[in-house]
Amino acid sequence: MGFPLPCSLTPTKVTAFKDCAYSFRLSVIDKVPQPLSLWTVKGVIAHKALERFYFNLEPGERSPASAMESIDAAWERAFDAGHAASFLSELTPERKRSLRSEIDELILNLFTVEDPSKIRVIGTEIMLESPIGDFLARGMIDRLELDSNGDLVVVDYKTGRSPSHLREQDKLAAVLFYALLVERVIGKRPRAVKLIYLKDRIVIETEVTPQRLKAVATRTSAVWHAVRAACETESFRPRPSRLCNFCAYRCQCPSFEAQGQPYPQHATG
Ligand code: SF4
Repeated sequence: MGFPLPCSLTPTKVTAFKDCAYSFRLSVIDKVPQPLSLWTVKGVIAHKALERFYFNLEPGERSPASAMESIDAAWERAFDAGHAASFLSELTPERKRSLRSEIDELILNLFTVEDPSKIRVIGTEIMLESPIGDFLARGMIDRLELDSNGDLVVVDYKTGRSPSHLREQDKLAAVLFYALLVERVIGKRPRAVKLIYLKDRIVIETEVTPQRLKAVATRTSAVWHAVRAACETESFRPRPSRLCNFCAYRCQCPSFEAQGQPYPQHATG
């Protein structure tokens, strides 16, 4: 019978499938919820603060003090409702203080890698989608800006550590995927893509060329065909690696069945 195909591919899904097809199946096909982690909540609040900071404020209003106000707003909203609110309400006061101070540090680090008062923002948290071949590509762009020559630059914030050289290529491919979406939807090819690693205060920037966008489209199509074949044959194999240490599905994984739980059945309804 086969598994249903996902409705779209995002950079996150592409990376997830390449990292471990079994984990991809649980999260994308079976939609087994992943528990929230401190790392995830920290990233969500930091991104929301940056969205407000760059979209709501004029360039001249962007200071460390107004960045703190943006974090205050994102922090308060996170406590309002939803999964993050119940997760945060269970933290000890000490852990909450520590989380807040880590977020403050991430955002203040931004001022060491760029001058926010000089950033010409087109938009933040922009959802784009476009057909590529026989599938739908989707992606949420953290920030789209204009450089000093009026060319587009796609920016992606990272709240974790900067990657090894090997992983760096994967991260760049993900943000080039966004550049491809910008070209398809807006009709203008961005000049560059930029990854900002807030924790390590590192910026990785690369030029966008037609060859690079073509390579991303080809690579993403190849992943889509592999996903389709895996759905048709119901074959999503676990791929143990050091990433298993961070995997939310470890206790459901056949590779760890000695300590695990029964293999989850696919929901057909
Ligand atoms: S524990 Fe490792 S092999 Fe198992 S699903 Fe997670 S990433 Fe894949």
